Amino acid sequence: MLKLYNTLTRQKEIFEPLKSDYVRQYDCGPTVYWYAHIGNLWRYMMSDLIRRVLEFNGYQVKQVMNITDVGHLTDEDLAADTGEDKMEVAARREKKTPQEIAEFYTQAFLKDLDGLNIQRPHVMPKATDHIPEMIALIQRLEEKGYVYRAGNYVVFDISKFPDYSKLSGKNLDELRVGARLEPVEGKKNPFDFALWIVDPQHLMRWDSPWGVGYPGWHIECSAMSMKYLGEQLDIHTGGEDNIFPHHENEIAQSEAATGKQFVKYWLHAGFLQVEGKKMSKSLENLYRLDDLMGRGFVPSAFRYLCLTAHYRTPLNFTWDGLEAAQNALKKLREFARSISENGSEQLGKLSEPDGQKVGKSDTLAHRRTDAPSRSEFSEYHQRFREAINDDLNTPQALAVVWDLVKSARADTSLRPVAYKLLRGFDKVLGLKLTEVCAEAIPQVPKQLVEERERHRREGHFDEADQIRQKILDLGYTVEDTSEGPKIKKA
Ligand code: AMP
Ligand code: ZN
Repeated sequence: MLKLYNTLTRQKEIFEPLKSDYVRQYDCGPTVYWYAHIGNLWRYMMSDLIRRVLEFNGYQVKQVMNITDVGHLTDEDLAADTGEDKMEVAARREKKTPQEIAEFYTQAFLKDLDGLNIQRPHVMPKATDHIPEMIALIQRLEEKGYVYRAGNYVVFDISKFPDYSKLSGKNLDELRVGARLEPVEGKKNPFDFALWIVDPQHLMRWDSPWGVGYPGWHIECSAMSMKYLGEQLDIHTGGEDNIFPHHENEIAQSEAATGKQFVKYWLHAGFLQVEGKKMSKSLENLYRLDDLMGRGFVPSAFRYLCLTAHYRTPLNFTWDGLEAAQNALKKLREFARSISENGSEQLGKLSEPDGQKVGKSDTLAHRRTDAPSRSEFSEYHQRFREAINDDLNTPQALAVVWDLVKSARADTSLRPVAYKLLRGFDKVLGLKLTEVCAEAIPQVPKQLVEERERHRREGHFDEADQIRQKILDLGYTVEDTSEGPKIKKA
């Protein structure tokens, strides 16, 4: 039984998808005006984890993550439709077109996802490719009387949507007093938000019934999620700063348009801090994955570090913590490889990483003398499953993993079971624990295998076959197994 904490109801709930075993997951994606920092990546780790846990539970998941390449204003996170389009600020800064900026930082983002073994979502729609869908949605709202004009802004009238603030629980009267920015002139309520901004000078601009301009940030997510997942979603994720105003606004405009509940489960990642402080450029503590690698860390060490904290807590990133994570991961991989090769001598050297709590079940390992049985497999499997199904309790899941390692170290007959279990657990953890030969394979065929996987997932089988041939030409074969593709020397 999978339980997830739902921001909407403020409690852990038993997960029941809208359709029996098919889950529609939407993740608010990056605004591609700059590199992703480790706070952003921690938040995408959480999306990846949710999908993996759902799949572990046997659900079929369709995951959609947007790429915001227009309309996200510098002041918009403060619930004000003022400021400039972040994409255009970046274009000026780098003397490039917004499209070049978007392309460059999208590629950088995908590289980070791959480095962290974050599975690529099935669909990654770009906002600029979906302007007609956004216009159609705004028209639908206009027909229903939710829209009015304030100067150059076409805005959503929140007074027409009585459920406004049901997600964030904000008291709008208090908010109004504390509003940090001057609202746009002509707005009836400072929290009425822009759906379309008329601006014939904007670099990226489109024709619309309201004049030449560009869409507001919030409407992008509603239009794209509905296009690829339908009018009702099972899961919608974001960082906790997205709750208000972004997700509140998504709910208002989507539910006003369709008359149906937009999302059943809202999940939000806590904020990542660095050495106990908020990340910021001025504190010079705003790190990217590349900065971590520049200090000699492998990307998966950061993945491991993320797994040591619960996704809703504010993960405190420290260099010492990353070091401990890298050491722990190294030991875990050494263990997995040694049992796969039956290298039992190496196992004696293995110890738990600093601070890892090891449970009690090694008593079980000492008790046994016969061959490993189904019940042992089930016991660890069950404990791992319980941990991840308890609102993705990855610290607890890792404790089960180390418990298993300890038991298998003490009892060699448990090792085949341990290996099988680790392979299964790694589908959730994504730490590549049992990929023994992958590192010996050069980068190019490995990338081709990933590209082929992507095509296969999207149903482009001709392209996938062509890539298989390219891999063969390079001297490697790819075999599709239940654990995913395996690459070998031909
Ligand atoms: P942006 O590209 O600025 O739209 O941000 C992308 C995502 O990263 C959003 O979902 C934010 O909620 C999330 N985010 C930004 N900073 C942090 C942080 N320090 N910790 C966790 N999530 C963050
Ligand atoms: Zn969004």
